[in-house]
Amino acid sequence: MNAPHRLRLDSAALVANWRALAALSGTACGAAIKANGYGLGATEVARRLAEAGCRDFFVATWAEAEALAPLGLPVAVLHGVRAEDMARARGGFAWPVLNTDQQVARWRGSGGGRCDVMVDTGMNRLGITPAAISDGTLDGLEVGTLMSHLASADEDSPLNARQLAAFAALAGTHPAERMSLANSAAIGIGRAYAFDLTRPGLALYGGVPRAELSDVLRQVVTPEAQILQRRRLQPGDVIGYNALFTAERPTEVAILNLGYADGYWRGFSQRGSAYAGDAWLPVLGRVSMDLTAICVDAAPDLAEGDWVAIDYALPQASALSGMSQYELLTGMGARYDRVWTA
Ligand SMILES: *Cc1c(COP(=O)(O)O)cnc(C)c1O
Repeated sequence: MNAPHRLRLDSAALVANWRALAALSGTACGAAIKANGYGLGATEVARRLAEAGCRDFFVATWAEAEALAPLGLPVAVLHGVRAEDMARARGGFAWPVLNTDQQVARWRGSGGGRCDVMVDTGMNRLGITPAAISDGTLDGLEVGTLMSHLASADEDSPLNARQLAAFAALAGTHPAERMSLANSAAIGIGRAYAFDLTRPGLALYGGVPRAELSDVLRQVVTPEAQILQRRRLQPGDVIGYNALFTAERPTEVAILNLGYADGYWRGFSQRGSAYAGDAWLPVLGRVSMDLTAICVDAAPDLAEGDWVAIDYALPQASALSGMSQYELLTGMGARYDRVWTA
């Protein structure tokens, strides 16, 4: 653990976000931890949330589920089972969310057992049709949760109420013990969307998909980067690729060990910022693959080897960079040391 950049990850904020979302849900609250826990580290996230009482975890693939197997937690694999997955899927460390008639048949044919089922209520991404359920496609299957997913929960779209009505209409027509519709954003719309289990991802990690949630969520992730070089620009000097920034006066600059290969996207060029204590340190010029320049006029003592914190409040960072909050999290990359603080 001695990379020149690290993610400071706030355990208390993660757990507080899950508790706040569980309270708003008013029902069981799970956790989407696919894509390596949205970039934070799935094992570390799952361990903390399980300790706080979370009992439903969702990943995308069997490789993700297998990586979590040592924790012995209840994990559902959202993409279901391909023929290539069957050997692993029979391993007992997770169960599939069946998405297609073929997946249902494949699971049944291999002996069945615990599964969840996705039904499509209008997003037209994954899921069997409501008609397939009334036709008895699921009869005799051991279905834990029947779930569906909203296309526009982060907007005030009429599609939300339409999908809600289509999903609610399935009550009593299926063998599942529980029903589940809401992602993070849908928890913000209201209790009607919660059913028996909610499945937040983004909001656990400090993303704010709807204004209703902005007061209850805390920032979890703060990237930090080490200074590789400090230098002084004279008026007329330029900096970085394509000389995007030209100094108008003598300017103190620090070059950070951080770039778009770490998910610090080019959209932060001339727009992002860092902090050293209270000193605000704006990005100068274009973000490179592994390096970013900041103005350190406000921090005369910062030197080679010192660390700065990157401004990474997700809603604001998303607006600045033009990347979604999801991309800002999942793009964070493998080079960081991930350091959890209490
Ligand atoms: C990723 C995912 C979630 C979590 O969504 P967020 O918007 O991150 O809260 C919930 N349900 C399903 C099916 C998903 O794929």
